Amino acid sequence: MRLSRYFLPVLKETPAEAQIVSHRYMLRAGMIKQASAGIYSWLPLGYKVLMNIETIVHEEQQRAGHIPLLMPTLQSADLWRESGRYDAYGEEMLRITDRHGRDMLYGPTNEELVTDIFRSNVSSYKDLPLTLYHIQWKFRDEIRPRFGVMRGREFYMKDGYNFDLTKEDALHAYNRHLVSYLRTYERMGLQAIPMRADGGPIGGDYTHEFLVLADTGESEVFYDSEITDLKFGDREIDYDSVEQCQAVLEEFTSRYARTDETHDEAVFAEVPEERRRTARGIEVGQIFYFGTKYSESMGAMVQDSEGGKVPVHMGSHGIGVSRLLGAIIEASHDEKGIIWPEGVTPFHCGIVNLKVGDEAADEACASLYKALSALGLEPLYDDTSDRAGAKFAKMDLIGLPWRITVGPRGLKNGVVEVTSRRTGESEELPPLEAIEKIAKIYGKVAS
Ligand code: ATP
Ligand code: MG
Repeated sequence: MRLSRYFLPVLKETPAEAQIVSHRYMLRAGMIKQASAGIYSWLPLGYKVLMNIETIVHEEQQRAGHIPLLMPTLQSADLWRESGRYDAYGEEMLRITDRHGRDMLYGPTNEELVTDIFRSNVSSYKDLPLTLYHIQWKFRDEIRPRFGVMRGREFYMKDGYNFDLTKEDALHAYNRHLVSYLRTYERMGLQAIPMRADGGPIGGDYTHEFLVLADTGESEVFYDSEITDLKFGDREIDYDSVEQCQAVLEEFTSRYARTDETHDEAVFAEVPEERRRTARGIEVGQIFYFGTKYSESMGAMVQDSEGGKVPVHMGSHGIGVSRLLGAIIEASHDEKGIIWPEGVTPFHCGIVNLKVGDEAADEACASLYKALSALGLEPLYDDTSDRAGAKFAKMDLIGLPWRITVGPRGLKNGVVEVTSRRTGESEELPPLEAIEKIAKIYGKVAS
């Protein structure tokens, strides 16, 4: 993309309404614009990152064997009356009446709708196990929407639902989700720690929240510092293997890590003192096994192998897709702006032309752009006539992890400059080697 043709409305001033760094940078970098309280338009740069995050979530869900579908945002109140949640949900639910006077609502979550799809189409244990998921907008009329996309009223969420014959099968689905979530967050350059959470009114031990440690997080968390050394990495996993998924769950949940709702001082005291940590965290996901709550109230039954009818065991599993943009920025930024991890960056690198109009500089930039694009990479080429300082400041603010700087002086010596946004370190390289370097970082082979 050539910057002169892009739509990147960066702000010079720091918006007064933004209290935390991710919100400030998202506004300043022209990623989002508030439409009304807690509701945002996603401008091109923000939308690009949102799509990258969404793609990773889709890939990892499908790798785990989960099946995508798409359910609507508007739902009929009748289904929620069946489950008993229409009245219970309270004021966070946006209720709408259509022209015929029918009660509708903008879905805050989808257990009812997906259970209805299931019960209309599945009647035998032979069709199990089944996990359906979608990535769809949700609406919760939060009393205090704040921190930009972090706590919106309209937000983008992946929610998945498993249907299993037995509790054991459903717990395997739970473990499978835990593993797939670990992989998902790591691909985004994030460490999200599974912490024991509160089962709410349904109760039960089977729920974990995934938290990204950050001072601006809304949750208070307590953990054994050893847990921050754990990495899932690029290990192979067979998602059908009960033992393998169980082993990962045990590895990642055996140390103390809890949110304030489940925190227990007495148990925490057993952690050696030098490893006890109290911090703040951002909840970027939650997994939940809730048994037969919805299948019983809504009649989602299957025939078991003996011909009897039994309610299916279910769980629901969410990832805060739009919140993740804020969480990633909270975890990865400096005083100049955002530092995108390579896994989610909106453009793979920037190209800064220090002297637009200089024949050699223009040509070198054009050929870098062409070569990188041919490798399937997307550079953002600043071909505007702005001053060098302004160009650097903009690149730093929008946070592309790599920048290639091209100027007449370097070209006389046959080099361009490759700079890491994260470390600030620069290296002078001949253009071909600069291409090779960027290609290698993104797992592409320059020929
Ligand atoms: P919270 O405790 O933060 O209100 P929740 O536990 O009610 O969230 P879930 O129902 O578990 O949320 O939803 C799954 C994920 O969706 C959460 O882990 C979070 O990342 C994201 N999420 C929830 N509410 C919001 C919101 N208002 N704005 C943005 N993302 C949200
Ligand atoms: Mg939650």
